[in-house]
Amino acid sequence: MGRYTGPKCKLCRREGEKLFLKGERCFSPVCAVDRRGTPPGMTRARRGRKLSIYGQRLREKQKLKRIYRLREKQFRNYVERAKRVRGAVTGEQLMLLLERRLDNIVFRAGLAESRDQARQLVVHGHFAVNGRSMDLPSYLVNSSDEILLKEAAAGKAGLKAIQESRSKHTPPTWLERLEGGVRVAELPRVDEMDKTIQTNLIVEYYSR
Ligand code: SF4
Repeated sequence: MGRYTGPKCKLCRREGEKLFLKGERCFSPVCAVDRRGTPPGMTRARRGRKLSIYGQRLREKQKLKRIYRLREKQFRNYVERAKRVRGAVTGEQLMLLLERRLDNIVFRAGLAESRDQARQLVVHGHFAVNGRSMDLPSYLVNSSDEILLKEAAAGKAGLKAIQESRSKHTPPTWLERLEGGVRVAELPRVDEMDKTIQTNLIVEYYSR
């Protein structure tokens, strides 16, 4: 299935919570979840209906997939990869893999307003990893990698504005801020990951 290109706010309303897909707008009073928290197209009778176990697993999977803006096949591949790590908790490995994606790092570093924008900037070749150009959003960073905006890109008006707004952004502790980029000081630890995601439900969904 192709990538979803419809209204992003609809995805948040479907999951019943903010997925932060639109940058600054998500923190403003016009956020659709704040204004109208009901799922799209849902009749009054269906609202508030208790979800089945399958439904709970499905919703949790959809939520995480949508946060990281992945297609079903890509997401499933991450789950399979996480399962293959011996002696590790699959859900934690899944979160770690997603966090290590280059587009996620660019977003976490405050070099893009959303993961969609981060993906676009990476695909357009605006970043270098350890001095080498990298245009794959799915590239998995490693500890001590340096991700920097290329010089030519840094001069562009739009990117300049994003860089300036970085001062308001606090990156996670495992990312060290550099001029025009970040260094991965260490890989994220389990206790630093999003605790609102019930990864056990996602693993159960794919173990059916
Ligand atoms: Fe979701 Fe952001 Fe839209 Fe709010 S503004 S509904 S958080 S994408």
